[in-house]
Amino acid sequence: MTRPSYRPATLLVRGGLDRTNHAETAEALFLTSGFVYDDAAQAEATFKGEISHYQYSRFGNPTVSMLEARLATLEGAEACRVTATGMAAVHAAMLSHLKTGDRVVASRALFGSCHWIVSTLLPRYGIESVFVDGADLAQWQEALSRPAAMVLLESPSNPMLEMVDIAAVSKLAHEAGALVVVDNVFATPLLQKPFELGADVVVYSCTKHMDGQGRVLGGAVLGRRKWVDEVLQPFIRNTGPSLSPFNAWVILKGLETLKLRVDQMCRNAAAIADLLAERVEVSRVLYPFRPDHPQQALAMRQMTGGGTLVTFDVKGGKEACFRFLDALRLVDVSNNLGDSKSLVTHPATTTHMRIGEEERARLGIAEGTVRLSVGLEDVADLIEDLAQALDAAAPSQEARAAE
Ligand SMILES: *Cc1c(COP(=O)(O)O)cnc(C)c1O
Repeated sequence: MTRPSYRPATLLVRGGLDRTNHAETAEALFLTSGFVYDDAAQAEATFKGEISHYQYSRFGNPTVSMLEARLATLEGAEACRVTATGMAAVHAAMLSHLKTGDRVVASRALFGSCHWIVSTLLPRYGIESVFVDGADLAQWQEALSRPAAMVLLESPSNPMLEMVDIAAVSKLAHEAGALVVVDNVFATPLLQKPFELGADVVVYSCTKHMDGQGRVLGGAVLGRRKWVDEVLQPFIRNTGPSLSPFNAWVILKGLETLKLRVDQMCRNAAAIADLLAERVEVSRVLYPFRPDHPQQALAMRQMTGGGTLVTFDVKGGKEACFRFLDALRLVDVSNNLGDSKSLVTHPATTTHMRIGEEERARLGIAEGTVRLSVGLEDVADLIEDLAQALDAAAPSQEARAAE
């Protein structure tokens, strides 16, 4: 069922399905740490690589394999390995490939822990890291005018929904000898195809839209068969960031509804972005497919939907912003995203607190900036909730007078 001719909605339901001889309908859950052999000779042949036989769930498990096959066929990748978290995926993709003396070029607007790996962890191992403004091609060109081992980028970025031109950066990166790693979490496998734009490796947090129902953590790395088998797999096998078969099973079932959920969340997000743009209490709305997004043309070129997140600035700084957040009755304050429940985050005091004021200013994260992960509630209920909370936030005699 994994012929590439099937469309994404079909692959999400059927891709990678590997039935046992019990002919079960749903994917079987192999909650087992190890496997047994018919005899000593079979064990020997397995370890010699002469026969294919599961050995130990740190390096392979039938339920986990089904998830890897489903994600690979959906992404159009030759191979996939899943991990316990998205950060384990990013870490494994980077550290399996890099060595002392290498250079890494990364967009500045990265998920906080990815930023920490590049800025803090890599230099400890003698790996040079260079940050650029992801939207500025001239900075990529400058940084990649010298050899580099890896480029890491996130597009759209968290939380400012800034786009990187993946095709242009991949071309520059390849000329510099770099492997291009794209963190595609915000776009999901459905809205953006980094491999078609030139990426070599795609990483995901399965915690976000793939589970999408707030239950489990997971991560995935996708790439060419040779790189996955020879570079990534030995690292994963021997360092052990393996995904639990139970969590793999939950994510497999989550994927079955991924397209339904992401499509509806995108529709809700677009409607909410339009509502927010009308409100006098809001000074800026960022949504990739809106004409007032500074990179709308690029977003429409490399994505097939605007995504499930909306970022906006509430006028009146942190105080007004907190009044808004605290007045929400339906939308929860949380730092997660991609969930069926709408969640709202204040990046300056939570997810992006540690990067410091200067770096926040450089990224455009203000005291009134809010990141909204739009869920599956009725969009009319969401709009009513956001509107009443903005009413409550309004400081805002001046704002109204200026209207
Ligand atoms: C959440 C996230 C990660 C990390 O994933 P975890 O599953 O939380 O470890 C990495 N990159 C992006 C863009 C994310 O949103």
